Amino acid sequence: MNALFPHWTGHYSKQRRRIQFLFLGTFAVLPLFDLLRFDFANSRLLILRQEIGLDEWALVWLFLMFAMWVIGAMSVVFGRVYCAYACPQMVFTELAHDIDAVARRLSRPFDLKTRPRVARVISLSLIAAMSIVASLLLLAYFAPLPVVASRLAHLDVGPWIGLIGATFSLVAFLDFVFVREKFCQTACPYGLLQGVIEDGRSLHVKLDPELGKCIDCGACHRVCPMGIDIREGSFQIECTRCGSCVDACEEVLGRLKQPRRSVLAFDFGGFSLKRWDPKRVLVSVATFGFAASLLVAIILREGVTLRLSPVYMDEAATRASQGGPSAEGLVESRYLLRATNHTKAPVELKGRVEGLPASTQLAGLEAARLAPGEEKRFTLIVRIPRGDAASGPTPFSWVIEGGGTPRRFPASFFARTSGRPS
Ligand code: SF4
Ligand code: SF4
Repeated sequence: MNALFPHWTGHYSKQRRRIQFLFLGTFAVLPLFDLLRFDFANSRLLILRQEIGLDEWALVWLFLMFAMWVIGAMSVVFGRVYCAYACPQMVFTELAHDIDAVARRLSRPFDLKTRPRVARVISLSLIAAMSIVASLLLLAYFAPLPVVASRLAHLDVGPWIGLIGATFSLVAFLDFVFVREKFCQTACPYGLLQGVIEDGRSLHVKLDPELGKCIDCGACHRVCPMGIDIREGSFQIECTRCGSCVDACEEVLGRLKQPRRSVLAFDFGGFSLKRWDPKRVLVSVATFGFAASLLVAIILREGVTLRLSPVYMDEAATRASQGGPSAEGLVESRYLLRATNHTKAPVELKGRVEGLPASTQLAGLEAARLAPGEEKRFTLIVRIPRGDAASGPTPFSWVIEGGGTPRRFPASFFARTSGRPS
């Protein structure tokens, strides 16, 4: 196994690859069970099977902030560990190296001259297949995977799914063949931020003279996927804490039967995980607090979102509404109600007003029903007999019932008595 897969050699490398597969599995499963998925067709974000409308921008924003916070908090404590253990770019890059190793093995029966070409063809074919799988995994976050797979199977992809899928696959293929770790070394914005996030107590690899003497074999430098020499300093922003250098050092010195096998070791600046570190406590408390707030916000969110705003009519429209034959001496104001039903059951809306004369008539919410997931706009009309309407603006409240606690919206009724037609 190790001879075939050089990236599976050593304690830290094996542990890292297992965790990578765990994250890759999680990445693949989340959208399948609607635990995390963007449903653009219905303008909603699915989190833990809860449907969050994109109009609920505060919750969507909170979720994105939380995701960024978790990665930042992890970096404060563990350095750039996300890159080595969870980032799809690194996971697929390491799989591409595994594919190269398999291709070299499969090309062995061929003669020395044709072997490199055969290995390249096998490697490119397998990487192409992996790029399509990676593209499907990503597409699943934006369209239900069973639908995409079934349409692909029937070659009924349509221009958009076909174009987006083909573009994703092509970009992934070029990335896995030509770019690989170079992106992490030079272009990844998260990696570049690392320098300002971590401090001396963040996880790092250090050359520890107490563990023994470095024999300058250079193995740690040769195996480093980021191309750095950790002996030149523990806090180089490229270091992802992957542990390959520790494994390499252990292997070399282990062969020489040193008293302690590796002179490189992971360290928290003297603050081991067992020691009380105020920074770690603070970060953990803030992360759990943030997660709890997000959970409470999702649980307590309104099943039906309602937004009410006045409709401003121009002079001609106002006159028509106040003096037209159907109005019969009534003055009226109009309001726009935007309602979205985020629940899985139909909802009926009812409305009343408070603070206006008893002779007030209402219209616009007769048989107002919202199907599950439906968004609708209603024009609400308040009519008051001209004799009962005070001149100028009259404050009042709209009370809308449906899908939970009745909601109250302050509004203003404006009677334009001076604009009455003769
Ligand atoms: S220095 Fe060591 S831990 Fe850091 S990226 Fe290179 S091999 Fe991984
Ligand atoms: S692998 Fe270990 S012994 Fe060899 S150069 Fe690196 S730190 Fe020194």
